[in-house]
Amino acid sequence: MGEITSPMGRFDQSKGESYMSVLIANGTIVTSLGEYGADILVEGETIVAIGKGLDKRAAEVIDASGKYVLPGGVDNHTHFALPFGGTVTRGFETTPAAILGGTTTIVDYAPQPRGMSITDSVAKHDEERASGKSAVDYAFHGIVMDVTDGLFEEIPKLPERGIPTLKLFMAYKGTPYMVDDATLFKALQAAKKSGVTIMVHAENGDVIDLLQKQCVSSGQVDPKYHAVSRPPAVEAEATARAVAIAAMADAPIFVVHVSCREAMEAIRDAYIDGVSAYGETCPHYMTLGVDNLSKPNFEGAKYVCSPALRSPEHHAAMWQAIGKGWLQVVGSDHCGFDWKEQKHMGKDNFTKIPNGAPGVQYRLALLWTYGVETGKISRQKLVNVYATAPAKFNGLYPRKGDIAVGSDADIVIFDPQWEGTMSVNNSLEGVDFCAYEGMKQKGRVEKVFLRGNLSVDNGKFVGQAGQGRFLKGKPFGAAYQGL
Ligand SMILES: [Zn+2]
Repeated sequence: MGEITSPMGRFDQSKGESYMSVLIANGTIVTSLGEYGADILVEGETIVAIGKGLDKRAAEVIDASGKYVLPGGVDNHTHFALPFGGTVTRGFETTPAAILGGTTTIVDYAPQPRGMSITDSVAKHDEERASGKSAVDYAFHGIVMDVTDGLFEEIPKLPERGIPTLKLFMAYKGTPYMVDDATLFKALQAAKKSGVTIMVHAENGDVIDLLQKQCVSSGQVDPKYHAVSRPPAVEAEATARAVAIAAMADAPIFVVHVSCREAMEAIRDAYIDGVSAYGETCPHYMTLGVDNLSKPNFEGAKYVCSPALRSPEHHAAMWQAIGKGWLQVVGSDHCGFDWKEQKHMGKDNFTKIPNGAPGVQYRLALLWTYGVETGKISRQKLVNVYATAPAKFNGLYPRKGDIAVGSDADIVIFDPQWEGTMSVNNSLEGVDFCAYEGMKQKGRVEKVFLRGNLSVDNGKFVGQAGQGRFLKGKPFGAAYQGL
């Protein structure tokens, strides 16, 4: 023990500075920009030095030879403790699943109860559900679920509360949260000056409502009709409309969970035309086919999520889009609904099946196995879509989403040689099925540090419930992408 030197200054441990010092040696560091062999010195919660042959005195040394060292993942899209259709998803006590999968920060959607402001809704979600329970650091998106009188005055003030993003729904007709075009336009105008990024769930709610009614009235009530009532065209139309409205408001827009080629192309083409239009896709839209919805014995209900799963040509379009940078983020859209109890609420009518699938644990594994290993995307691109870009959009960069001096020591040590199978038996998602059951996995998360604390070791969660902290996002996150 004693003195150690780093670019951040000299620290004398004999004076009672109680940081842990860890050296991750000999690994290959992968960032969104490149990869190189180097050591990482962590003091306390922070990366303080990166370099070759760093001084190993006073440090616990972890040998990462043959391993990749990645920044902890930032999951732009989770729904812990979300009320939906009379039931609620698994809560923050299941966030060890996130960190086991390499995700050290989640950006969760805070639902808005009727009549409550966005700010109060976020505070309530934190106090009642996340605080003291989350095993990962967390920030929040607001969601407009009730268009109150004060909404448009509140939007510019959201960044003061650390909420730089707000989602609106263009779907779910008959609920108080489906917005019309004027509401979306007004929200974009209100958001622009203060750097709030408006996010949209883009599907045509009117057409879906009609198609659902037509299916049900003709006795087409099985899970597979979920996809019939939500074809790619309803997503493509709403996405094109959303980016056109953003262009009219001259404001950035971020389209969540893009699932089909035509919607992706609407975002890409708008961006090329000068609109600040961005988007996210999800691992299930890149790996799980629409045929899953036809599985017998109501198993198809496991795969009911919105937008619906698509055919392989759309999967290929999603891989191409993240490879080319036409979509910038891959989020899980994790919804921990169980099959036996919750999905069965729609046993006789697919419109009553809670929408959403679990997946927070598998984002990195799926991107690596089905993207990097197959040559569809580079390791740098993986890091960008799973950590760096979402950190930027949510105003958390460079504290999160990168391996850099001064960043939080959120670090994944990844073993590319490991081979196994995804299964509910090794899931911490807390539900009775794994959406990727039986699928092959190449490589795995071996160790994870959350702000310097070892939280996964040898592929097992060793952290603490409640170790996660609330993070305030900074506004103007979308500006990073437009530079
Ligand atoms: Zn969602």
